[in-house]
Amino acid sequence: MTSILVYALHYEGAFNKNSLGAVSEGARLAGELGGECHAVVVGEQAGLSDDLCASLGRYGATKVFRVEGPEGLAQPVVDAMAKIISDDGHGYALFGGGLLGFEIGAGLTARLDAGVCMEVTSVRVEDGKLVSERPILQDSSVSDVHYRSDVGVIIGRLNAFEARESGDAAAAVEDVAVEFAPHSLRAKMVTRGEQRGADVNIEDADILVAGGRGLGKAEGFEALEELAGALGGAVAATRAVVDAGWYSYSAQIGQTGKTVAPKLYLAAGISGAIQHKVGMQGSENIVAINKDSNAPIFEFSDLGVVGDLNKIVPKLTEAVKAKKDG
Ligand SMILES: Cc1cc2nc3c(=O)[nH]c(=O)nc-3n(C[C@H](O)[C@H](O)[C@H](O)COP(=O)(O)OP(=O)(O)OC[C@H]3O[C@@H](n4cnc5c(N)ncnc54)[C@H](O)[C@@H]3O)c2cc1C
Repeated sequence: MTSILVYALHYEGAFNKNSLGAVSEGARLAGELGGECHAVVVGEQAGLSDDLCASLGRYGATKVFRVEGPEGLAQPVVDAMAKIISDDGHGYALFGGGLLGFEIGAGLTARLDAGVCMEVTSVRVEDGKLVSERPILQDSSVSDVHYRSDVGVIIGRLNAFEARESGDAAAAVEDVAVEFAPHSLRAKMVTRGEQRGADVNIEDADILVAGGRGLGKAEGFEALEELAGALGGAVAATRAVVDAGWYSYSAQIGQTGKTVAPKLYLAAGISGAIQHKVGMQGSENIVAINKDSNAPIFEFSDLGVVGDLNKIVPKLTEAVKAKKDG
């Protein structure tokens, strides 16, 4: 029986979507392996109620290991997960990705002399073992990664795994006392926060309105902010406009930016370069506005509008507002 241990990050009394996706994926895989999916949460006891921890049961975790310690820092989580895996014999550790997931996963790999695969977009079971699928060569091909080590570490691409509620079961909560290594406590969390665009965290937003060089100038983003506001979404950007200083790096989507999977990704004045596509191709619906009917983005859009965004975006905003008011 092979069980999977998943790290779940929480902030202000809620688990982030990326962690819930990892727990859901861990539960699916553990089910196929005939084992269980367990989660580990680390934080100050006051912010980690029984109910919050047990709520991971809705995503398929059967047990949650609750560890009192500094949340949001990698090394204490490495200590916690290494101890839990050594005590309980989990076969795999799974992370949803993101900077913290990468850092903890890498540390845990070194600590356990484990095998690791990062930027994983899919995992399958083959002959009773997990095989990670990782896109390579700018996502033009997919490589299969098999594990030979006792413990396999899987670090997903951010938001690669879908958060799925599988029922209303509550996970058992077990407190674990972990003795942190002195070096693990040398970094101190000064403050935590989330980067937001139009007051919505872009990685969790259901609707993203993204702008590219076709906006013509930094002020072009004002119209997108207005549209995003009307739709209740957030604003995202290409690297070209971030490099030009038109919008903040925190909103950059793509290979060297964030990976998102909203319900709607509305791309205005974006050509659809491969490096941008890899960050948004998981979106449920892609709508593109581009004046060039041959723009590559139309090849992977669900709806393409050929025209001048300066005329279309304000009209769209007006229409959305009118619909909301009426
Ligand atoms: C190693 C590496 C990493 C990279 N990482 C990233 C990354 O993370 N994210 C990313 O986005 N890019 C990344 N890039 C850059 C990427 O290759 C593209 O250059 C970039 O995505 C292009 O941005 P864009 O679509 O805004 O601009 P452009 O390619 O210049 O496209 C602008 C589009 O706007 C359209 N347009 C112009 N005017 C209008 C108008 N009035 N109305 C409607 N449409 C109009 C044009 O037809 C055109 O299709 C990376 C590149 C490299 C080499």
